[in-house]
Amino acid sequence: MTSQQKDIVIVGGGHNGLVCAAYLARAGRSVLVVEAAAEIGGAARTRELAPGARVSSGAHLLHAMPDDLINDLNLTAHGLKLSSVRLNTVSLNNTGSSIVFADNTVSGAEVTAKDKAAFARFDKDMNRFAKALRPVFDKLAPDVSIETWGQRLELLGLGWTLRKLGRYHMREFLRVIGINFYDLLDEYFDNAQLKAAIAMDALLGSEWGARSMGSVLTYLYRLAGYQRNGGMGLALPEGGMGALSHALAKAAEAAGAEIRTGARVKRILIDDDRATGVELENGERIAAGCVVSNADPKQTFLKLVNPDHLDTGFIRRIRNLRSKGKAAKLHLVLSGAPAFKGVEAANLGSRMLIAPTMDEIELAFNPCKYKRYPTASVMEIIIASAHDSSLVSSGQHVLSAVVQYLPYDDTPEEDANRTAFLETVLDQLEQYAPGIRAQVMAAELLTPRDIERQFGISGGHWHHVELAFETFLFNRPVPALARHCSPISGLYVCGAGCHPGGNVTGIAGRNAAQQVLRGGH
Ligand SMILES: Cc1cc2nc3c(=O)[nH]c(=O)nc-3n(C[C@H](O)[C@H](O)[C@H](O)COP(=O)(O)OP(=O)(O)OC[C@H]3O[C@@H](n4cnc5c(N)ncnc54)[C@H](O)[C@@H]3O)c2cc1C
Repeated sequence: MTSQQKDIVIVGGGHNGLVCAAYLARAGRSVLVVEAAAEIGGAARTRELAPGARVSSGAHLLHAMPDDLINDLNLTAHGLKLSSVRLNTVSLNNTGSSIVFADNTVSGAEVTAKDKAAFARFDKDMNRFAKALRPVFDKLAPDVSIETWGQRLELLGLGWTLRKLGRYHMREFLRVIGINFYDLLDEYFDNAQLKAAIAMDALLGSEWGARSMGSVLTYLYRLAGYQRNGGMGLALPEGGMGALSHALAKAAEAAGAEIRTGARVKRILIDDDRATGVELENGERIAAGCVVSNADPKQTFLKLVNPDHLDTGFIRRIRNLRSKGKAAKLHLVLSGAPAFKGVEAANLGSRMLIAPTMDEIELAFNPCKYKRYPTASVMEIIIASAHDSSLVSSGQHVLSAVVQYLPYDDTPEEDANRTAFLETVLDQLEQYAPGIRAQVMAAELLTPRDIERQFGISGGHWHHVELAFETFLFNRPVPALARHCSPISGLYVCGAGCHPGGNVTGIAGRNAAQQVLRGGH
């Protein structure tokens, strides 16, 4: 039974799907978002972990959304409030010797004047390179078909952006982009803890360690995010990341879009090689002029589209995409404020990192290559309740941590492994915050496989598809999808698996909307 007819149906109400819906509805199109989960937001969601205690259950920091998108969609008027901006970062040490990163400076008892000066140089160099790449990250991936003068000029513009760095910095950029972050940081710094803390920004959410090729690229990707966010740095939406998604949904609805939750798409309807709508799991069919998928590429093209409509080469490429996440998420409800060594109570709301040295990052990374769990992890910790009391009952705190590196565990021992690993992480935290174990009132560890289940992301990967040279720019996630169109006419993609990549940016959603409006390829 066909229940509705829309100009556009969007499969998935993750933040990118909602951004796409808002832009399309503002352009006068009739838009319906169908979200499988009971709640919108995808991996940008807030969830009750225990009675009265709420956490950002996927992403926990807002740092990469362009300020013009936030303003364009009037997110403040639609309820977005930030409980904190420009969070400092504190690298923890179990001896109490912490390092603080605040407003482009670094300090700490064991940070020498030489390392402080090196940090200023490093920060300037990297920001220069990130600035050169930013137009590439912020816009639609260039068209490499070079059939028209416009396409040729776009590619030339890319080369010119790099040449504008000047001869020395262009050469330096081309040198460092190919090496790994471990070697690069060794060139600048002496302090091992300082190097590891910086490396975390390149590695969070990725499938590799500091010695892996491509880790400079992911660092620049992260820096470009800071540059575009209008100075908010690392920010926390009041009410958790779900509050951002709700503001996006309100912006879309105010423009006329309709959003349905608890509506899982079973398949994308294709007629005569053109997408014509979707069929939901309950059998309901919704007809549409075109379909935009916010689901990851594997789900979209291996599950929702009948393979008869795709050529085998394309299917093989999608199947081979690297999409097994290595980042887990820890959530704790604590009976009181934990006391981290080397962190004053007033700084509990900083972003805290546990990454003692780059070698220890590598040691945490190595086991996951062989599907094993690390004996000590590296992690990014946020205590959002230090800024936002609405998340907890009085006196309590919620801690969320991205914990790396876990294998995608599909073995029969998965449950036992998760339980044992949670104990390992709590023991590790106890070394940095003595007494924290006794404060734990509720605990949850989401492994990459749990993230797959909870957010519907194949493989549970932060970026849907690994952000690497082979899946970058006009190759992301595969050349045929690089500009949000697909081999099937009228079917578009708008999720983190597309250019430019993951994080809560909304860029893929905005660019996809642009392509739909152009009817483009
Ligand atoms: C543990 C973790 C921590 C992270 N931390 C941060 C962070 O601090 N800051 C940051 O910027 N980024 C972070 N990220 C990355 C960020 O969360 C993601 O890159 C981003 O949320 C992806 O958004 P999206 O809209 O593209 O896709 P998703 O959020 O994955 O949304 C896709 C939506 O599609 C829906 N869907 C899928 N299939 C169907 C179907 N068949 N029918 C209907 N609906 C369907 C899903 O339910 C989901 O709602 C983190 C990611 C993880 C996993």
